[in-house]
Amino acid sequence: MTAAHALASAPTDTRPRLEVDLTAVAANTEHLARAATKGLMAVVKADGFGHGAAAVARTALTHGANSLGVATLAEAVALREEGITAPVLCWLNPVASDWELALRHRIDVAVPGVAHLDAIAAVAACTGVPARVHLHADTGMARDGAPAPQWVGLAERARRLERGGSVRVVGAMGHLALAAGGPDLPGRAAFTRFHRLVRRTGLRPQVRHLAATAATLADPATHYELCRVGAGLVGIDPGGTTALRGAVRLTAPVVSVRDVRAGTGVGYGHTWTAPHRTRLALVPLGYGDGIPPAAVPGAEVLLAGRRLPLVGAVSMDGVVVDVGDAPVRAGDVAVVLGPGDHGEPTLAEWARWGRTLPHAVLTGLGGRAVRHVVTAPTLRSAR
Ligand SMILES: *Cc1c(COP(=O)(O)O)cnc(C)c1O
Repeated sequence: MTAAHALASAPTDTRPRLEVDLTAVAANTEHLARAATKGLMAVVKADGFGHGAAAVARTALTHGANSLGVATLAEAVALREEGITAPVLCWLNPVASDWELALRHRIDVAVPGVAHLDAIAAVAACTGVPARVHLHADTGMARDGAPAPQWVGLAERARRLERGGSVRVVGAMGHLALAAGGPDLPGRAAFTRFHRLVRRTGLRPQVRHLAATAATLADPATHYELCRVGAGLVGIDPGGTTALRGAVRLTAPVVSVRDVRAGTGVGYGHTWTAPHRTRLALVPLGYGDGIPPAAVPGAEVLLAGRRLPLVGAVSMDGVVVDVGDAPVRAGDVAVVLGPGDHGEPTLAEWARWGRTLPHAVLTGLGGRAVRHVVTAPTLRSAR
């Protein structure tokens, strides 16, 4: 066989494909940057909601974001190791984290209490470089951030350490529990109280930040100097006020088709039985690839130009489609999820079918699918 022949007959890639469209991330970022009153922080935690943290970060930074946010120090360091030099804040770390690493990489740290503050300050005092901290108040989540009775103690300790030169209080932050349901009035009021108290101690944080995607899009009173947006970058508006663009497209070729008689049980536990004779197609994506098991019955894929239902239990590696009389053949490509331009199922539909959050669908995707990244046309090398 000649080399040319070998090339011509080389099998095309038949693996499931997860396409990440950074042009959508770019457009969403521009929309969010217009909505934000002042600064925009791109939150790229959980690998950029499954889209690739560095790719989403660079795209966002060239389309209107000024800084980056992540949950953990490890995520922040990973961005630095990708060569990204923009300001990065991380907010969810144990007291005993490697703060020396944070200082070395010039990473801002949110502190939810005096223990965190003291631990960072102690390391910073040794290095001679003040730690950049954001005082993190619990403004109604009861999840993270300092509870209200500890606000005074936290602010006073921060003031003392700032005077001593081991920390610089650059930010005051809260997070809203209820913003997806309209203005979170208790959250707003709590943040106002917190910030007033911080100022009373003599601290002057440059940035106050409270809003995530929902409040960025719907509640300007929460914007202050900075909005922190994650979900919106990848097309989710938890408040449902704004149509943003989905940035992933998941496809897979049909592995096989079979004709079955009425009464044929399908999949584990025979949770579905063919009510009449029909044709079934096997699509090689299962819960191991992020397909929510709870999505069937209900879920559909786009195949042969039609919406066709998934039937039987979702397996780890595959799902079965009842194609009926649609002219489906092995090798035809099923569109499982996409922005919806061509009638394919959207992220919002998958979240509804799976009785889960669109965020959870996105962070679960991937598995065995081959990733393809479509870069944004105006993307410069953001550092
Ligand atoms: C995830 C997160 C955000 C971003 O929220 P989205 O709703 O995804 O925009 C902002 N702040 C904190 C503290 C977060 O954990």
